[in-house]
Amino acid sequence: MEKTIFQKIIDREIPATIEHEDDKCIVIHDIAAQAPTHLLLIPKKLIARIGEATPEDAELLGHMMTIIPKLAAKLGWSDGFRTVINNGPHGGEAVPHLHIHLLAGRQMAWPPG
Ligand code: C5P
Repeated sequence: MEKTIFQKIIDREIPATIEHEDDKCIVIHDIAAQAPTHLLLIPKKLIARIGEATPEDAELLGHMMTIIPKLAAKLGWSDGFRTVINNGPHGGEAVPHLHIHLLAGRQMAWPPG
C-alpha cells in the first residue's frame, strides 16, 4: 500500500516543520494554514480516520488528547483554540491518515463550513 503523505513525513521522506514528536505521535505545521497557528496532531500508527479507530487505540488516542493542553500552554493559546477531525467525504477529509487539526490565533466562527 502506498504510504500516506503523513507517513512519509513521519519517515522523514518529505520535509515538514515539526512542533512536537514522541514515540506515539508527531505534530507538524499545516502547509496551508487556516489560522495564525495551524497544527496537525498525527498518530505514528496508521489509523485511516477516527471512524475506524478501535478499542485497541484507546491508549494512543488518550495520549494524543494529553498533548493538546501541553501545546496550548507552550504556544500561549490562552484565548482559546479549535480542534477539528475531518472524517470521510462529507467531513472534508483529504488525507486518509488520522490527524487532529489544532487552530489558534484568531476568532473562530460557528457553525463551521
Ligand atoms: O482533514 P484533511 O484531510 O482535509 O486535512 C489534510 C491537511 O493536511 C490539510 O490541511 C493540508 O493542508 C495538510 N497537508 C500538509 N502537508 C502536506 C499535505 C497536506 O500540511 N504535505
